[in-house]
Amino acid sequence: PEAITVQELANRMAEKGADLVKELFNLGMMVTVNQTIDQDTAELLVDQFGHNVERVSEADVDINTTEDQDPEETLKPRAPVVAVMGHVDHGKTSLLDALRKTNVTKGEAGGITQHIGAYQITAKDKSKITVLDTPGHAAFTEMRQRGANVTDIVILVVAADDGIMPQTIEAINHAKAANTPIIVAINKIDKPEANAQKIRERLLEHEVIVEAMSGDVQDVEVSATKGTGLDKLVDAINLQAELLELKARPDRAAEATVIEAQLDKGRGPVATVLVTRGTLKRGDTFVVGTESGRVRALIDDNGKQVKEAGPSTPVEVLGLGGVPDAGDQMTVVENEQRAREVAEFRQAKATESRTALAPTNFDTMFNNMQ
Ligand code: GDP
Ligand code: MG
Repeated sequence: PEAITVQELANRMAEKGADLVKELFNLGMMVTVNQTIDQDTAELLVDQFGHNVERVSEADVDINTTEDQDPEETLKPRAPVVAVMGHVDHGKTSLLDALRKTNVTKGEAGGITQHIGAYQITAKDKSKITVLDTPGHAAFTEMRQRGANVTDIVILVVAADDGIMPQTIEAINHAKAANTPIIVAINKIDKPEANAQKIRERLLEHEVIVEAMSGDVQDVEVSATKGTGLDKLVDAINLQAELLELKARPDRAAEATVIEAQLDKGRGPVATVLVTRGTLKRGDTFVVGTESGRVRALIDDNGKQVKEAGPSTPVEVLGLGGVPDAGDQMTVVENEQRAREVAEFRQAKATESRTALAPTNFDTMFNNMQ
């Protein structure tokens, strides 16, 4: 920007606005914190406060979660994250329940399961799969628009007794736009009127070409209610995951994406996050969206307190300053000062894009969505 308010510059440098005003006064300028100063004056101030001018640049003040890559040798395999999509009544919820039951590691006695927006299953072969328990395409699209593409694989549920319906097509389009591979779960195969072959043929019209039709999209016949074909579905997910070579660095400060969040009466703001890299630990200081906080407790998908959560692990976080939005990025930082600095920077950015006029600030908007 050509001009910047004194306060905004102060925020970016993590200095007090009043100190900048004082410094400007010493330089012979009478301005308040809300007034703007030009680029040259800003640079002079930055210099004066012993910061590097580059330090004002966005990439350095904010922690860009997509820019910096972890060195290849630090990466470890991580569990795939799958989302279940499809037309209403085709069996998304039933399949989510059925998949959860395939978990071989026992949860609480009595199997009390907790809905935290995502869960992780351990298959017979010990492989883990993270399942987003938020059916509905809105969540998927919304998150993607916000640059939070956490889904590695889309499970497209199509009822074998019905066919390709509007939301089936919508799901296909979402997956394609996000470049996310699809596995077709042809559901309700137990029904007498089920016709899996018809589904495979109809999918061709939407450029989803399954293996039986000489394509490379896997399809599995399942019955969510009878539990048929679930092992095959898990195998298909693992095969697809292998092809994707999903990896993340576990031994670093955590980054995570908010899956869902709400204000809990007893516990305050609570967010379910999915760790995308690093390991989130109790006591960590973080910024989530434009709020900062400190991890007071971590609760897993079985309702148990845990000390830490690594890549691809869904976990509920307590200790937030406010309720974040789905798709918000959580970033662990070294200390509270840094947390405030990043939070303030993000706040300023948010205000900037809110007040910005669409045509002239298209670039800013676009960048915010990356
Ligand atoms: P959603 O709207 O996609 O979440 O679909 P639901 O999971 O709520 O399922 C819709 C209806 O289909 C419910 O009555 C389910 O019991 C039924 N259903 C789901 N899967 C199967 C299946 O594999 N076989 C049969 N026969 N019924 C199923
Ligand atoms: Mg449902």
